[in-house]
Amino acid sequence: MGRSYDLLVIGAGPAGMTAAIYGSRAGLTTAMIEAGAPGGKLLKTAEIANWPGIKETPGAQLAYEMFEHSTAFGAAYLYGNVVQVEDHGEWKKVICEDGTSYEAKAVIVATGTRERMMHIPNEEANIGKGISFCAVCDGAFFKGKEVAVIGGGNSALEEAMYLAQMAKKVYLLIRRDVFRADTIIQEELAKYDNIQVLRKVVPSEVIDDGNRVSALVYEDVDTHEKHTLEVAGIFPYIGLDPVTEFVKELGVCDENGYLLTDANKETKVKGLYGAGDVCAKNLRQVVTAVSDGAIAAQHAFHQIKGI
Ligand code: NDP
Repeated sequence: MGRSYDLLVIGAGPAGMTAAIYGSRAGLTTAMIEAGAPGGKLLKTAEIANWPGIKETPGAQLAYEMFEHSTAFGAAYLYGNVVQVEDHGEWKKVICEDGTSYEAKAVIVATGTRERMMHIPNEEANIGKGISFCAVCDGAFFKGKEVAVIGGGNSALEEAMYLAQMAKKVYLLIRRDVFRADTIIQEELAKYDNIQVLRKVVPSEVIDDGNRVSALVYEDVDTHEKHTLEVAGIFPYIGLDPVTEFVKELGVCDENGYLLTDANKETKVKGLYGAGDVCAKNLRQVVTAVSDGAIAAQHAFHQIKGI
């Protein structure tokens, strides 16, 4: 059994770290619990260009500064992979994979999203062997090589542009003939000579040489013809799924697994909150994540102190 806290924040991305700042500054005993490194998606983002007051900053730099800030008022930082949250009315029990558990008067779920898999043959076996979900982390391994990026959303286009700065060539595969990404990002993409967009195609199989990825087979959506691209790396960016398995039994998620919250970021379970990308919402950005974290922690503070 671990400690008990007023406020336990699950996930230390921008939403969770902001919740920790607001909770601890308000005087709540506060802890963040995280299964990876603090920073969330910031760690996978080369440059952040829409954080007000700073025109451009590396994601990892902002993550580092947020983390320093998040523990500056006494919030604890705990390592743990949460597998279940139990509701006991006035208190919640948070249980980790290793059997450690914590109690808290309020819990904020800020676990964000994880990248969706392509679900094609040979994909799983080659994760880390040429298939990567993080261009910022792994891009340097593909210097001077040819790679494929899958998806037509903001993530895929941004990562394709990041990779194009070091890879010899980037193939960008989209399943429709139009992008989903914002116009400004599409305009930026058009400036890259070494990015080739392949439209109306879907990936169908990963080929390896017994050791690492050597090619990607894709299918033409109209003709169903198959083609092979000889690439050393494959970066799927085909959307995201929320990390909420550990609260599913509480009935607080929508049909896609996103947390349903009210204006105070509270779920229908009193004292259980959601903040950031893990919530059902329209705009998933760092600024909206930190806003959620502040609102949730402030409401939890009011509830706990009976204000
Ligand atoms: P999106 O859901 O926005 O885009 C997913 C893309 O993958 C779409 O082009 C979709 O095609 C395609 N796709 C989905 N499934 C498959 C499949 N099985 N095979 C092939 N292609 C597939 O996800 P993102 O990760 O790009 O973005 C998630 C959220 O984060 C969005 O709200 C986005 O705006 C935001 N974001 C914002 C950024 C910014 O503002 N700078 C940066 C990165 C993300 P189709 O279009 O046909 O559905």
